[in-house]
Amino acid sequence: MPLCPIKSQSLEDLQAQLHDWGEPGYRATQVVEWLYARRVPGWDAMTNLPRRLRERLAQHYALTTLELVAQQGSADATQKFLWRLEDRTLIESVLIPARPTAPGADEDASRHTLCISTQVGCAYGCAFCASGLGGFKRNLGADEIVEQVLAAQRRGRIDNLVVMGMGEPLANYDNLIRALRILNAPWGASIGARRITVSTSGLCPQIRRLAGEPHQFRLAISLHGATDAVRNRLMPINRKHPLRDLIAACEAYQTVKGRLITFEYILISGVNDGLDQTRPLAALARRLHAKVNLIPYNRVDGLSWERPPQSRQELFLAAIEREGAKATLRRERGDDIDAACGQLRLRTEPHPAAPASATDTPQSR
Ligand code: SAH
Ligand code: SF4
Repeated sequence: MPLCPIKSQSLEDLQAQLHDWGEPGYRATQVVEWLYARRVPGWDAMTNLPRRLRERLAQHYALTTLELVAQQGSADATQKFLWRLEDRTLIESVLIPARPTAPGADEDASRHTLCISTQVGCAYGCAFCASGLGGFKRNLGADEIVEQVLAAQRRGRIDNLVVMGMGEPLANYDNLIRALRILNAPWGASIGARRITVSTSGLCPQIRRLAGEPHQFRLAISLHGATDAVRNRLMPINRKHPLRDLIAACEAYQTVKGRLITFEYILISGVNDGLDQTRPLAALARRLHAKVNLIPYNRVDGLSWERPPQSRQELFLAAIEREGAKATLRRERGDDIDAACGQLRLRTEPHPAAPASATDTPQSR
Protein backbone atom coordinates (compact mmCIF):
# COMPACT_ATOMS: atom_id res chain seq x y z
CA MET A 1 0.00 0.00 0.00
CA PRO A 2 1.42 3.45 -0.86
CA LEU A 3 2.33 5.54 2.15
CA CYS A 4 0.12 8.48 3.09
CA PRO A 5 1.89 11.81 2.32
CA ILE A 6 2.21 13.47 5.71
CA LYS A 7 1.99 16.98 4.22
CA SER A 8 -1.55 16.23 3.08
CA GLN A 9 -2.65 15.69 6.70
CA SER A 10 -4.24 18.24 9.01
CA LEU A 11 -3.21 18.56 12.65
CA GLU A 12 -6.48 16.84 13.59
CA ASP A 13 -5.70 13.91 11.24
CA LEU A 14 -2.29 13.49 12.86
CA GLN A 15 -3.68 13.83 16.37
CA ALA A 16 -6.19 11.06 15.64
CA GLN A 17 -3.50 8.73 14.26
CA LEU A 18 -1.04 9.35 17.07
CA HIS A 19 -3.81 8.95 19.62
CA ASP A 20 -4.56 5.53 18.06
CA TRP A 21 -0.91 4.63 18.54
CA GLY A 22 -1.19 5.57 22.21
CA GLU A 23 1.09 8.60 21.93
CA PRO A 24 0.69 11.62 24.22
CA GLY A 25 -1.38 14.52 22.92
CA TYR A 26 1.54 16.91 22.32
CA ARG A 27 3.31 14.64 19.79
CA ALA A 28 1.22 15.77 16.79
CA THR A 29 2.06 19.40 17.60
CA GLN A 30 5.75 18.50 17.70
CA VAL A 31 5.46 16.82 14.30
CA VAL A 32 3.79 19.80 12.61
CA GLU A 33 6.38 22.12 14.13
CA TRP A 34 9.14 20.11 12.44
CA LEU A 35 7.20 20.06 9.17
CA TYR A 36 6.01 23.65 8.88
CA ALA A 37 8.06 25.84 11.26
CA ARG A 38 11.44 24.12 10.81
CA ARG A 39 10.65 22.62 7.38
CA VAL A 40 12.95 19.67 7.89
CA PRO A 41 13.46 17.34 4.91
CA GLY A 42 13.48 14.01 6.81
CA TRP A 43 12.42 12.10 9.92
CA ASP A 44 15.92 11.93 11.41
CA ALA A 45 15.91 15.68 11.99
CA MET A 46 12.90 15.38 14.36
CA THR A 47 15.20 14.97 17.34
CA ASN A 48 12.67 15.47 20.14
CA LEU A 49 10.64 12.45 18.99
CA PRO A 50 11.64 9.03 20.34
CA ARG A 51 13.40 6.88 17.74
CA ARG A 52 10.65 4.21 17.75
CA LEU A 53 8.03 6.86 16.94
CA ARG A 54 10.14 8.24 14.09
CA GLU A 55 10.40 4.71 12.70
CA ARG A 56 6.69 4.17 13.00
CA LEU A 57 5.97 7.48 11.28
CA ALA A 58 8.35 6.54 8.46
CA GLN A 59 6.54 3.22 7.94
CA HIS A 60 3.17 4.92 7.80
CA TYR A 61 3.77 8.29 6.13
CA ALA A 62 5.73 9.53 3.12
CA LEU A 63 7.84 12.63 3.78
CA THR A 64 9.08 13.90 0.44
CA THR A 65 10.51 17.15 -0.84
CA LEU A 66 10.70 18.48 -4.38
CA GLU A 67 13.80 18.07 -6.48
CA LEU A 68 14.99 21.35 -7.97
CA VAL A 69 15.78 20.80 -11.66
CA ALA A 70 16.35 24.38 -12.77
CA GLN A 71 16.23 27.87 -11.32
CA GLN A 72 16.13 31.03 -13.40
CA GLY A 73 16.45 34.63 -12.31
CA SER A 74 18.48 36.55 -9.76
CA ALA A 75 17.82 37.29 -6.10
CA ASP A 76 16.26 40.72 -6.70
CA ALA A 77 14.19 39.76 -9.75
CA THR A 78 11.51 37.23 -10.54
CA GLN A 79 12.81 33.72 -9.93
CA LYS A 80 11.43 30.62 -11.45
CA PHE A 81 11.79 27.14 -9.97
CA LEU A 82 11.32 23.99 -12.00
CA TRP A 83 10.61 20.99 -9.75
CA ARG A 84 10.69 17.28 -10.47
CA LEU A 85 8.06 15.17 -8.68
CA GLU A 86 8.33 11.56 -7.51
CA ASP A 87 6.92 10.26 -10.82
CA ARG A 88 9.49 12.42 -12.66
CA THR A 89 6.91 14.86 -14.07
CA LEU A 90 7.77 18.57 -13.91
CA ILE A 91 6.01 21.57 -12.38
CA GLU A 92 6.94 25.20 -11.75
CA SER A 93 6.63 27.86 -9.10
CA VAL A 94 7.53 31.52 -9.55
CA LEU A 95 8.79 33.85 -6.83
CA ILE A 96 8.09 37.54 -7.37
CA PRO A 97 10.15 39.45 -4.81
CA ALA A 98 9.20 42.70 -3.14
CA ARG A 99 10.28 45.88 -4.86
CA PRO A 100 10.75 49.35 -3.37
CA THR A 101 7.41 51.15 -3.23
CA ALA A 102 6.35 54.74 -3.38
CA PRO A 103 3.72 55.88 -0.86
CA GLY A 104 0.27 54.91 -2.08
CA ALA A 105 1.63 52.26 -4.44
CA ASP A 106 0.01 48.86 -4.76
CA GLU A 107 0.67 47.27 -1.37
CA ASP A 108 1.46 43.91 -2.95
CA ALA A 109 4.61 45.45 -4.34
CA SER A 110 6.19 45.42 -0.87
CA ARG A 111 5.61 41.70 -0.41
CA HIS A 112 7.26 38.52 -1.59
CA THR A 113 4.73 36.61 -3.66
CA LEU A 114 4.93 32.96 -4.63
CA CYS A 115 2.96 31.59 -7.57
CA ILE A 116 2.28 27.84 -7.34
CA SER A 117 0.97 25.08 -9.63
CA THR A 118 -1.90 22.70 -8.92
CA GLN A 119 -1.78 20.25 -11.84
CA VAL A 120 0.75 18.77 -14.24
CA GLY A 121 -0.44 20.29 -17.52
CA CYS A 122 -3.97 21.58 -17.92
CA ALA A 123 -7.09 20.22 -19.60
CA TYR A 124 -8.70 23.58 -20.34
CA GLY A 125 -6.76 24.39 -23.49
CA CYS A 126 -6.86 28.20 -23.51
CA ALA A 127 -5.51 29.21 -26.90
CA PHE A 128 -2.72 31.46 -25.59
CA CYS A 129 -1.39 29.38 -22.71
CA ALA A 130 1.73 27.22 -22.45
CA SER A 131 0.37 25.08 -19.61
CA GLY A 132 -2.30 23.46 -21.75
CA LEU A 133 0.00 22.70 -24.69
CA GLY A 134 0.94 19.17 -23.67
CA GLY A 135 -2.58 18.43 -22.40
CA PHE A 136 -3.45 17.32 -18.91
CA LYS A 137 -1.28 14.78 -17.08
CA ARG A 138 -2.51 14.64 -13.50
CA ASN A 139 -3.65 16.51 -10.43
CA LEU A 140 -1.08 17.44 -7.82
CA GLY A 141 -1.59 15.94 -4.40
CA ALA A 142 -2.22 18.32 -1.50
CA ASP A 143 1.30 17.54 -0.25
CA GLU A 144 2.83 18.56 -3.61
CA ILE A 145 0.96 21.87 -3.49
CA VAL A 146 2.05 22.48 0.12
CA GLU A 147 5.66 21.46 -0.55
CA GLN A 148 6.08 24.10 -3.29
CA VAL A 149 5.55 26.72 -0.58
CA LEU A 150 7.85 25.06 1.96
CA ALA A 151 10.58 24.59 -0.65
CA ALA A 152 10.41 28.30 -1.52
CA GLN A 153 10.32 29.27 2.19
CA ARG A 154 13.54 27.32 2.74
CA ARG A 155 15.06 29.89 0.36
CA GLY A 156 13.42 33.02 1.82
CA ARG A 157 10.31 34.73 3.16
CA ILE A 158 6.91 34.34 1.45
CA ASP A 159 4.14 36.84 2.26
CA ASN A 160 1.58 36.25 -0.47
CA LEU A 161 0.51 33.17 -2.29
CA VAL A 162 -1.10 33.17 -5.73
CA VAL A 163 -2.45 29.93 -7.14
CA MET A 164 -1.80 30.94 -10.75
CA GLY A 165 0.84 28.49 -11.93
CA MET A 166 0.29 25.48 -14.09
CA GLY A 167 -3.17 23.93 -14.07
CA GLU A 168 -6.71 24.90 -13.17
CA PRO A 169 -6.87 24.98 -9.36
CA LEU A 170 -10.63 24.59 -9.11
CA ALA A 171 -10.46 21.40 -11.23
CA ASN A 172 -8.38 19.88 -8.40
CA TYR A 173 -10.73 21.21 -5.77
CA ASP A 174 -10.35 18.79 -2.87
CA ASN A 175 -6.56 18.69 -2.93
CA LEU A 176 -6.44 22.48 -3.36
CA ILE A 177 -8.61 23.12 -0.32
CA ARG A 178 -6.79 20.53 1.76
CA ALA A 179 -3.47 22.21 0.86
CA LEU A 180 -4.72 25.77 1.42
CA ARG A 181 -6.05 24.82 4.87
CA ILE A 182 -2.59 23.59 5.83
CA LEU A 183 -0.91 26.66 4.34
CA ASN A 184 -3.35 28.96 6.14
CA ALA A 185 -3.42 27.19 9.53
CA PRO A 186 -1.57 28.78 12.46
CA TRP A 187 0.10 25.37 13.06
CA GLY A 188 0.93 25.15 9.31
CA ALA A 189 2.51 27.75 7.05
CA SER A 190 0.36 30.47 8.70
CA ILE A 191 -0.30 32.52 5.54
CA GLY A 192 -3.42 34.66 6.03
CA ALA A 193 -6.41 33.73 3.83
CA ARG A 194 -6.55 37.27 2.43
CA ARG A 195 -2.95 36.80 1.32
CA ILE A 196 -3.94 33.77 -0.74
CA THR A 197 -5.40 34.28 -4.22
CA VAL A 198 -6.93 31.46 -6.24
CA SER A 199 -7.06 32.08 -9.98
CA THR A 200 -9.64 30.35 -12.15
CA SER A 201 -10.54 30.33 -15.80
CA GLY A 202 -14.18 30.29 -14.68
CA LEU A 203 -15.41 26.96 -13.25
CA CYS A 204 -18.77 28.27 -12.04
CA PRO A 205 -19.97 25.39 -9.82
CA GLN A 206 -16.63 25.35 -8.00
CA ILE A 207 -16.65 29.15 -7.55
CA ARG A 208 -19.98 28.72 -5.76
CA ARG A 209 -18.55 25.85 -3.73
CA LEU A 210 -15.56 27.98 -2.74
CA ALA A 211 -17.99 30.63 -1.51
CA GLY A 212 -19.23 28.05 0.99
CA GLU A 213 -15.77 27.44 2.50
CA PRO A 214 -15.05 29.22 5.77
CA HIS A 215 -11.92 30.98 4.44
CA GLN A 216 -11.71 34.47 2.96
CA PHE A 217 -9.54 33.54 -0.02
CA ARG A 218 -9.19 36.10 -2.78
CA LEU A 219 -10.45 35.08 -6.18
CA ALA A 220 -8.87 36.08 -9.48
CA ILE A 221 -10.97 35.50 -12.55
CA SER A 222 -9.06 34.99 -15.81
CA LEU A 223 -11.39 37.01 -17.97
CA HIS A 224 -9.36 37.94 -21.07
CA GLY A 225 -12.50 38.93 -22.97
CA ALA A 226 -15.46 41.12 -21.95
CA THR A 227 -17.86 39.69 -24.55
CA ASP A 228 -18.67 36.04 -25.25
CA ALA A 229 -17.47 36.42 -28.85
CA VAL A 230 -13.94 37.39 -27.76
CA ARG A 231 -13.82 35.04 -24.79
CA ASN A 232 -15.00 32.07 -26.89
CA ARG A 233 -12.04 32.55 -29.19
CA LEU A 234 -9.55 32.35 -26.36
CA MET A 235 -11.05 30.08 -23.72
CA PRO A 236 -13.02 26.91 -24.56
CA ILE A 237 -14.52 26.95 -21.06
CA ASN A 238 -16.58 30.00 -22.04
CA ARG A 239 -18.77 27.77 -24.21
CA LYS A 240 -19.68 25.72 -21.18
CA HIS A 241 -19.90 28.61 -18.72
CA PRO A 242 -20.50 31.84 -20.67
CA LEU A 243 -19.97 35.28 -19.17
CA ARG A 244 -23.48 35.61 -17.79
CA ASP A 245 -23.04 32.42 -15.69
CA LEU A 246 -19.54 33.42 -14.67
CA ILE A 247 -20.62 36.84 -13.45
CA ALA A 248 -23.54 35.30 -11.53
CA ALA A 249 -21.13 32.88 -9.81
CA CYS A 250 -18.81 35.80 -8.97
CA GLU A 251 -21.73 37.72 -7.50
CA ALA A 252 -22.57 34.70 -5.36
CA TYR A 253 -18.95 34.65 -4.12
CA GLN A 254 -19.01 38.38 -3.49
CA THR A 255 -22.27 38.19 -1.55
CA VAL A 256 -20.74 35.81 0.97
CA LYS A 257 -17.14 37.04 1.04
CA GLY A 258 -17.20 40.76 0.32
CA ARG A 259 -14.98 42.47 -2.21
CA LEU A 260 -12.33 39.88 -2.86
CA ILE A 261 -12.46 39.54 -6.65
CA THR A 262 -10.05 40.77 -9.33
CA PHE A 263 -10.20 40.30 -13.09
CA GLU A 264 -7.08 39.18 -14.94
CA TYR A 265 -7.02 40.41 -18.51
CA ILE A 266 -4.07 39.49 -20.76
CA LEU A 267 -3.65 41.97 -23.60
CA ILE A 268 -3.14 40.14 -26.89
CA SER A 269 -2.57 42.16 -30.02
CA GLY A 270 -5.51 42.19 -32.42
CA VAL A 271 -7.54 39.75 -30.36
CA ASN A 272 -8.83 41.39 -27.17
CA ASP A 273 -7.13 44.80 -27.08
CA GLY A 274 -9.72 46.59 -29.19
CA LEU A 275 -11.39 49.59 -27.61
CA ASP A 276 -14.74 47.83 -28.14
CA GLN A 277 -13.82 45.68 -25.12
CA THR A 278 -13.15 48.51 -22.69
CA ARG A 279 -16.76 49.57 -22.09
CA PRO A 280 -18.14 46.06 -21.35
CA LEU A 281 -15.01 45.24 -19.33
CA ALA A 282 -15.36 48.36 -17.19
CA ALA A 283 -19.09 47.65 -16.75
CA LEU A 284 -18.37 44.13 -15.43
CA ALA A 285 -15.66 45.47 -13.12
CA ARG A 286 -17.92 48.19 -11.73
CA ARG A 287 -20.75 45.73 -11.20
CA LEU A 288 -18.51 43.42 -9.14
CA HIS A 289 -16.36 46.16 -7.57
CA ALA A 290 -13.48 44.22 -9.06
CA LYS A 291 -10.09 45.63 -9.96
CA VAL A 292 -8.85 44.83 -13.47
CA ASN A 293 -5.25 43.60 -13.79
CA LEU A 294 -4.07 44.17 -17.33
CA ILE A 295 -1.17 41.87 -18.24
CA PRO A 296 0.74 42.29 -21.49
CA TYR A 297 0.85 38.88 -23.18
CA ASN A 298 4.06 36.89 -22.77
CA ARG A 299 5.17 35.16 -25.94
CA VAL A 300 4.95 31.38 -25.87
CA ASP A 301 7.20 29.23 -28.07
CA GLY A 302 5.10 27.63 -30.80
CA LEU A 303 2.22 30.14 -30.53
CA SER A 304 1.87 33.16 -32.74
CA TRP A 305 0.10 35.55 -30.37
CA GLU A 306 1.80 38.87 -29.59
CA ARG A 307 1.47 41.58 -26.98
CA PRO A 308 0.28 44.97 -28.24
CA PRO A 309 2.76 47.86 -28.24
CA GLN A 310 3.06 49.80 -24.99
CA SER A 311 1.12 52.76 -26.42
CA ARG A 312 -1.85 50.48 -27.14
CA GLN A 313 -1.67 49.02 -23.63
CA GLU A 314 -1.74 52.51 -22.09
CA LEU A 315 -4.66 53.52 -24.30
CA PHE A 316 -6.63 50.47 -23.17
CA LEU A 317 -5.89 51.25 -19.51
CA ALA A 318 -6.91 54.89 -19.89
CA ALA A 319 -10.19 53.90 -21.57
CA ILE A 320 -11.14 51.58 -18.70
CA GLU A 321 -10.30 54.22 -16.13
CA ARG A 322 -12.39 56.76 -18.04
CA GLU A 323 -15.30 54.33 -17.72
CA GLY A 324 -14.92 54.52 -13.94
CA ALA A 325 -13.34 51.14 -13.22
CA LYS A 326 -10.17 50.50 -11.22
CA ALA A 327 -7.36 49.02 -13.27
CA THR A 328 -3.61 48.47 -13.24
CA LEU A 329 -1.28 47.65 -16.08
CA ARG A 330 1.49 45.23 -15.19
CA ARG A 331 4.79 46.47 -16.46
CA GLU A 332 6.26 42.97 -16.59
CA ARG A 333 9.48 42.08 -14.90
CA GLY A 334 9.52 38.38 -15.58
CA ASP A 335 9.14 38.11 -19.33
CA ASP A 336 12.88 37.70 -19.87
CA ILE A 337 12.81 34.46 -17.88
CA ASP A 338 9.67 32.90 -19.35
CA ALA A 339 7.60 34.02 -16.37
CA ALA A 340 4.18 33.11 -17.68
CA CYS A 341 2.89 29.81 -16.42
CA GLY A 342 4.02 26.64 -18.16
CA GLN A 343 6.77 28.27 -20.17
CA LEU A 344 9.82 26.94 -18.38
CA ARG A 345 8.51 23.40 -18.40
CA LEU A 346 7.72 23.78 -22.08
CA ARG A 347 11.29 24.76 -22.80
CA THR A 348 12.67 21.84 -20.79
CA GLU A 349 10.22 19.31 -22.15
CA PRO A 350 9.19 20.63 -25.59
CA HIS A 351 5.93 19.28 -26.83
CA PRO A 352 5.99 18.00 -30.41
CA ALA A 353 2.60 19.21 -31.60
CA ALA A 354 0.49 22.02 -30.24
CA PRO A 355 -3.30 21.50 -30.35
CA ALA A 356 -5.09 23.06 -33.34
CA SER A 357 -6.67 25.88 -31.33
CA ALA A 358 -3.24 26.95 -30.11
CA THR A 359 -1.78 27.29 -33.59
CA ASP A 360 -4.53 29.62 -34.85
CA THR A 361 -3.08 32.84 -36.11
CA PRO A 362 -4.71 35.81 -34.43
CA GLN A 363 -6.72 37.82 -36.92
CA SER A 364 -5.65 41.38 -37.44
CA ARG A 365 -7.94 44.12 -36.27
N1 SAH B 1 -5.91 28.00 -14.69
C1 SAH B 1 -6.00 29.16 -13.89
C2 SAH B 1 -4.72 29.51 -13.17
C3 SAH B 1 -3.47 29.36 -13.95
S1 SAH B 1 -3.26 30.45 -15.34
C4 SAH B 1 -6.48 30.34 -14.70
O1 SAH B 1 -6.58 30.22 -15.92
O2 SAH B 1 -6.79 31.35 -14.10
C5 SAH B 1 -2.79 31.92 -14.47
C6 SAH B 1 -2.85 33.18 -15.31
O3 SAH B 1 -1.78 33.24 -16.24
C7 SAH B 1 -4.15 33.27 -16.08
O4 SAH B 1 -4.75 34.52 -15.92
C8 SAH B 1 -3.63 33.01 -17.45
O5 SAH B 1 -4.54 33.47 -18.35
C9 SAH B 1 -2.28 33.70 -17.45
N2 SAH B 1 -1.42 33.36 -18.59
C10 SAH B 1 -1.34 32.19 -19.22
N3 SAH B 1 -0.49 32.27 -20.26
C11 SAH B 1 -0.03 33.54 -20.30
C12 SAH B 1 0.89 34.26 -21.16
N4 SAH B 1 1.48 33.65 -22.15
N5 SAH B 1 1.13 35.56 -20.89
C13 SAH B 1 0.55 36.17 -19.84
N6 SAH B 1 -0.31 35.55 -19.00
C14 SAH B 1 -0.61 34.24 -19.22
FE1 SF4 C 1 -5.32 26.08 -18.04
FE2 SF4 C 1 -5.37 28.51 -16.91
FE3 SF4 C 1 -3.70 27.96 -18.95
FE4 SF4 C 1 -6.33 28.13 -19.39
S1 SF4 C 1 -4.97 29.78 -18.69
S2 SF4 C 1 -4.95 26.53 -20.20
S3 SF4 C 1 -7.15 27.25 -17.52
S4 SF4 C 1 -3.64 27.07 -16.92
